[in-house]
Amino acid sequence: MTFESLSLNPFILKALNDSGYTEPTPIQETAIPVVMEGHDLMASAQTGTGKTAAFMLPALHKLSEPPKGPGKGPRILVLSPTRELAQQISAAATKYGKYMRRAKCVSILGGTPYAVQNRLLASPVDILVATPGRLIDHLQRGKVDFSRLEMLVLDEADRMLDMGFIEDVETIAAATPASRQTLLFSATLDGKMAQIAKELLREPKRVEVASAQQRHENIEQRLHFCDDLAHKNRILDYLLRDVELNQAIVFTATKRDADQLAGDLYQQGFPAAALHGDMHQGARNRTLTKLRRGEIRILVATDVAARGIDVAGISHVINYDLPKQAEDYVHRIGRTGRAGASGIAVSLVSNRDGILLRKISGYTGQKIDAAVIPGLEPKPRMRDDRPRKDFSNGKPGKRRSPHEYKQGAAFNSKSTSANGKGRDGSRQGRDGQASGFAGPSERRMQERYATQSEQTRGNKRTNAQRPSGRSQRREWE
Ligand code: AMP
Repeated sequence: MTFESLSLNPFILKALNDSGYTEPTPIQETAIPVVMEGHDLMASAQTGTGKTAAFMLPALHKLSEPPKGPGKGPRILVLSPTRELAQQISAAATKYGKYMRRAKCVSILGGTPYAVQNRLLASPVDILVATPGRLIDHLQRGKVDFSRLEMLVLDEADRMLDMGFIEDVETIAAATPASRQTLLFSATLDGKMAQIAKELLREPKRVEVASAQQRHENIEQRLHFCDDLAHKNRILDYLLRDVELNQAIVFTATKRDADQLAGDLYQQGFPAAALHGDMHQGARNRTLTKLRRGEIRILVATDVAARGIDVAGISHVINYDLPKQAEDYVHRIGRTGRAGASGIAVSLVSNRDGILLRKISGYTGQKIDAAVIPGLEPKPRMRDDRPRKDFSNGKPGKRRSPHEYKQGAAFNSKSTSANGKGRDGSRQGRDGQASGFAGPSERRMQERYATQSEQTRGNKRTNAQRPSGRSQRREWE
């Protein structure tokens, strides 16, 4: 199938051609005709499948027709759970709509001054991309005119539900014309999501692309068992020095750990920075720009902040802490292997992570193979009977790429391990200093590690504990 056969406006086709897209992705191929026919749609598609264009292209096509009524309010409204995702959606709207006369896109996100947003909302808008909390504020102040709204898109609706935004979404939907077309994109379409769809959509067509099992075939997943925090940090250090690593996102369970680990890595000489929800929007934007430009090689992030990050250079995702929710695992690893590239996802796990690992494997339908790094093997009690990948080249001093590992020379267990490390994992870093984390912050982290179980450490906010008030919820945007 070609984009031409989808009967999209020629200006959109020209922009797609500029983007270098030769053919629609499966979600675009199935969803675009349904939306162009005017149906409501509930679609299950993960980030990385081209889902943004699946709703943005037909939305822009709608804008190529004259508006149905007077006014200057938005004709398309897209709601997103996070600011980063909202920014990507706005960028996509600008990219695909660049040749169109009527495709002015405005973002209304938490963390940005109200005065600027008031000005934006007072001028004519075609596409409004917003996080629910901030949009509700403007709605309650009478600053948004939905009288000519034609399409409402709920992107990553499952995430909006998780983050406690669904009431806000329902309030916003109730303020839009009943005649609107509604599209809902979500990782899952059953359970509560089906209920929400029933309330907000009219006779929706259902589109599901690629099951959880089929996704991420281009991403090599593996795990390393870690004895304790010091061992984990040595493994992390080893992974981050892999010659194959272009850029990495390291996920931590808490914002505080993200800051601390990013600081430690920076001190170790890595171009590292943190990204989390406590940072001001300006700082988050600057960090993402630096990541895109390759100035930051290692981003240490929490789930919420990293959601929606689409940077082609991310070769590795490292789960420093496992996510509490299996869906988050899929979202995390989807930060690598973007647009058909291959990627590597490594999880650093302790022997307390068994339940989480089983939840993740159950959700993805894939078993994650355990791997060992010679010289950094876990203590025997950590071992299990599963086959392990061999990460040795049998020679000291040279690190092989994962592709070489796959071709697999036999592991000489007697040999000195890669990079000449000893069993205690100490080895020389770039600057000739012993690498690993030995500063005061390591001691602090070790103390915490010793007193808190890994699963509870930092995962203080369970679903039940997630903030319920809107002001608190904004923290999650
Ligand atoms: P998304 O799932 O919307 O986050 O998109 C994932 C990536 O795929 C983004 O970098 C898009 O620019 C890219 N993309 C979207 N549609 C296509 C297409 N038809 N061909 C190639 N790349 C695409």
